[in-house]
Amino acid sequence: MKLNERGLLVVISGPSGVGKGTIRKALFEIPDNNFIYSVSMTTRKPRAGEVEGVDYFFVSREEFELGIKNGEFLEYAEFVGEYYGTPLSYIDKQLQEGKEVIIEIEVQGALQVREKMPDAVFVFIVPPSKKALIDRLTARGTERSSEIQRRLEKAEREYNLAYKYDYIVVNDDVFNAADRIFAIIRAEHAKTERSIHKYYKLMEGKE
Ligand code: 5GP
Repeated sequence: MKLNERGLLVVISGPSGVGKGTIRKALFEIPDNNFIYSVSMTTRKPRAGEVEGVDYFFVSREEFELGIKNGEFLEYAEFVGEYYGTPLSYIDKQLQEGKEVIIEIEVQGALQVREKMPDAVFVFIVPPSKKALIDRLTARGTERSSEIQRRLEKAEREYNLAYKYDYIVVNDDVFNAADRIFAIIRAEHAKTERSIHKYYKLMEGKE
């Protein structure tokens, strides 16, 4: 029995190439989960195989800037020259329905979420070594070498902000990493501050 019925907003960050997307997919394969992935909006061009509305909503700079003006984002940031943002609509409804909403965003955006939704859970994913990250980023072959360099420099700056997160998860193995995040979500639900009110109501026979 789960005392906290509201879903959790789980914010996942980590340097480019660390495997956030792969871990997320493994997380969604865990049986009986009630996870929802919040699809972000971006101005970057789709990579081969990426699908509109599944990986991202791909928009022009003009459309994105209109969204900013209309207050349509929970958070947004510029990452190596492109906009990325989390659409606000939909998230709160899903949380109220008890779904765990997973968002995968870079650090500046995560810090904005920390301000706006302090009860979200913040997970920072790190590679088992620096070399592993360079190898992964190079092997996926989706970026030119200048772009890889920019992403590696960005990774250095992101590591320096990892202390602002609640949890650090090492991606030594995708399924282990997904498992650890699953365990974090379960433990977070059991936290006293999330469950005590419901418990008292039950004890008073009010529910
Ligand atoms: P990529 O171009 O590799 O798909 O994403 C670049 C970075 O932007 C990654 O760190 C990714 O997590 C982050 N990102 C993706 N969606 C969002 C978003 O909605 N907001 C923010 N702030 N970052 C995002």
